[in-house]
Amino acid sequence: MAGIYIHIPFCKQACYYCNFHFSTLLSYKEKLVAAIAKELFLRKESLAGQTIDSIYFGGGTPSLLSEKEFYIIYEAIVENYAISALKEFTFEANPDDLSDTFLNWLKHTPVDRLSIGIQSFEDAHLKFMNRAHTAKEAYESVQKAKQIGINRISIDLIYGIPGMEMQTWESNLANAFSLEIDHLSSYCLTLEPNTVFGKLAKKDKMILPLEENSSSQFERLQNLSEAAGFVQYEISNFGKPNAFALHNTNYWKNESYLGVGPGAHSFFPGQRMWNISNNQQYILSIEKNELPLETENLSIADQFNEYVMTGLRTMWGIDLALIEKRFGIEKSTQLKKDLAKHIASGKLLAKENVMLLSKDGKFFADGIASDAFIVNP
Ligand code: SF4
Repeated sequence: MAGIYIHIPFCKQACYYCNFHFSTLLSYKEKLVAAIAKELFLRKESLAGQTIDSIYFGGGTPSLLSEKEFYIIYEAIVENYAISALKEFTFEANPDDLSDTFLNWLKHTPVDRLSIGIQSFEDAHLKFMNRAHTAKEAYESVQKAKQIGINRISIDLIYGIPGMEMQTWESNLANAFSLEIDHLSSYCLTLEPNTVFGKLAKKDKMILPLEENSSSQFERLQNLSEAAGFVQYEISNFGKPNAFALHNTNYWKNESYLGVGPGAHSFFPGQRMWNISNNQQYILSIEKNELPLETENLSIADQFNEYVMTGLRTMWGIDLALIEKRFGIEKSTQLKKDLAKHIASGKLLAKENVMLLSKDGKFFADGIASDAFIVNP
């Protein structure tokens, strides 16, 4: 099984924390959609013979596509890939785009799952992050989508916003659960260097998020989501049973995926690729039938580290039998030695042949994984 990811690199405005590839210059949209359709054709051999079980339109902001533009891309997928066994089709949207008209045409497409970028139900925080929508629009967008019959809905929420009180975070979570969504992705605000927040922080011009607030909000997120019937199946992802995101789960389980569009990443066994993160250069290159991508062949050490890192972030953990099979018995023995102290401290649980993070251990996932990393020879 394999997945297809389509990157729609346009946004109405730049959110101050955002580190994704996007442009606010929408005049290239038509040409870019044509280029994405052509890239899908040019790369069809990369998934030849493979059954596609998930499609994901992400960004950027896919909800800036018109119905016509959506179908140009979708038809290119249908023509070039085996999607008859498709199990999930996710479409990312921002609340301010989800008008009745938009939802009506989307409802009649094969999209069966909506991922809505809400981030907060507080106007002050939305303004602080330069989001393009209001709290009211956020709330109503989910209600409207459900009323129209789109039942699989995920929302994104951000915690660790400077100055955000625990009470506000709890109220954000209560709002989310009251909307009866079946999936929540929740991330801590990070200040990436090339973002507005990152630049302000570097110049000491913004109040920094406090680590202790972020940690306590993460803990509350774990507890309240569990009480609301969600399973934390990955550090930042919470789903109702049977509503885990297939597309993301495939990433974490090292399944192949093809990423199309500027800035999109692809993964095939032993290989990672990424497209140029520049819309105009991407269009020019595709128009000349040239793929604007770079390829990295993953060493055994890279593959091992990636498996440990992604596996530990999930509820499925890392499988020692699989490590033995893929990387040899010495690697599995070394891993047990490297992680023994975390088992002793209770941050890591060892169950039969599987190691997984405990609830406490989820606060230290990156550090624990790096203790097991091997270095390239
Ligand atoms: S809408 Fe999403 S992709 Fe666009 S700037 Fe905001 S966070 Fe980034």
